[in-house]
Amino acid sequence: MKKFKIQLHTQILIGLILGAVFGSVFHMSPDKIEIIAKSGSEKISGYSEVSFLKRDSTLAAFNSGEQMLIIKFLKSFTDKKVKDSIKVKVTLKNNEIKEYSGVTEIIKVKSLGAVIKPIGDIFVRLLNMIAVPLVFASLLVGAASLSDLRNVARIGGKTISIFMVTTVIAITIGLVSANLFQPGHFMPPETKTLLLQTFSDEASSKIEQNVSVNIIDFFVNLVPKNPFKAIADGDFLQVVFFSILTGIFLTQVPKDKSHSIINFFDGLSSAMILLVEKVMLIAPFAVFALISATVAEFGFSILQTLLMYVITVLAGILCLILFLYPALIKLLARQKVIPVYKALRQVMIVAFSTSSSAATLPLEIEVAEKKLGVSNKIASFVLPLGATVNMDGTALYQAVAAMFIAQVYGIELDITKQITIVITSVLASIGTAPVPGVGLIMLIIVLRSVGIPEEGIALILGVDRVLDMARTVPNIVSDSLTALTVARSEGELCEIKPD
Ligand code: ASP
Repeated sequence: MKKFKIQLHTQILIGLILGAVFGSVFHMSPDKIEIIAKSGSEKISGYSEVSFLKRDSTLAAFNSGEQMLIIKFLKSFTDKKVKDSIKVKVTLKNNEIKEYSGVTEIIKVKSLGAVIKPIGDIFVRLLNMIAVPLVFASLLVGAASLSDLRNVARIGGKTISIFMVTTVIAITIGLVSANLFQPGHFMPPETKTLLLQTFSDEASSKIEQNVSVNIIDFFVNLVPKNPFKAIADGDFLQVVFFSILTGIFLTQVPKDKSHSIINFFDGLSSAMILLVEKVMLIAPFAVFALISATVAEFGFSILQTLLMYVITVLAGILCLILFLYPALIKLLARQKVIPVYKALRQVMIVAFSTSSSAATLPLEIEVAEKKLGVSNKIASFVLPLGATVNMDGTALYQAVAAMFIAQVYGIELDITKQITIVITSVLASIGTAPVPGVGLIMLIIVLRSVGIPEEGIALILGVDRVLDMARTVPNIVSDSLTALTVARSEGELCEIKPD
């Protein structure tokens, strides 16, 4: 009898759906807190009030559900002596009163949905572990067949042009949807004040990172001072630069010298690709754990508050996936849309659940070579470059976020300012590192360029986790499609085999 087998991409999809259900069933409750005091810690569930007392006068009192504010209030005492003098009084729902002194910290109580996250973390770390050696080894081997720098310049030129065009279109789509939906005009002033208050600390810690982008520095930094440091730091652009040069010059030394090195790296790259395939076997469980933890930790009430903003970003991303990319596949890559999307299913789910282009990169390279039929030479060049500099989803999100914050603050953005947003969002997305959450930090550059208050990022912090997941999908898809298009134009494309 033939054994019934569920395909891996279906298993991953099931993992994603079940993870979301599991996370919402075992959701972290806003009225459960853990009080950590010098004498020990205690978990409290179902409080009706938490108040902070100093010499019997009440400093502040919070109601059930105001978990974030409670945690933040205690954190605001940085002086240890003052903190020690504060008493925390908890009134339980059954009117029982508990008092704690010497409280050092108050934290959220983790639910089962969040506790399983380490399974997902291991998966993400495994993928990150593979990324740098894979990029280095496979690009070095790929570059050894490029033979001269003119080829690199031509392929590079095509790649960068497609990256730029798709990013600018993505930002324009973002601006159009923000102008159409006007999400910022749906926010009442009291919600604005509450959000600014709740997320002010987190916002300031991001603003303090004082990010900037400078095109000249960008090019200077392409050249690693020490390639081994670039490898150790996982700096993809520098690794790409070094491996291309090494690969090309390996072809110019006598065969008896270069042969064994190219063979060595060829072996390493094949082993890494094989490892990706094996790591993907745990993907269904890992995706389950990652999604469950995100859903369990997520505050759904904030989703309601920022619904119009979230819808505007998602509508823009949907436009990319449903219109822009199919047009790219049809017109430039001259392929059928469905088989390409089918081949990219796993990549999209992994990008969504890890929110990291860097972690998705190894799988993306494997899929491009084995399923999309892109040659190793093109895939190992275009994809690491794309993961680092080409972020359509992030650029679109930054444009919508800037418009949204401006609308909430009542700042008019005329056409010149919107054009400035296009330019700075391109730069900010290029500067965004391919890891979770950096798109939000780089948004500060866009805000600054048009005079929107930077602390406005506090308004959108609460939903950034979900939008990060969503924007990472087009970030990755656009790289794969660029690789497909460049490969076709270079005659480096074989048949697409989606399954
Ligand atoms: N998470 C995104 C990525 O890795 C970057 C971002 O927008 O924060 O592609």
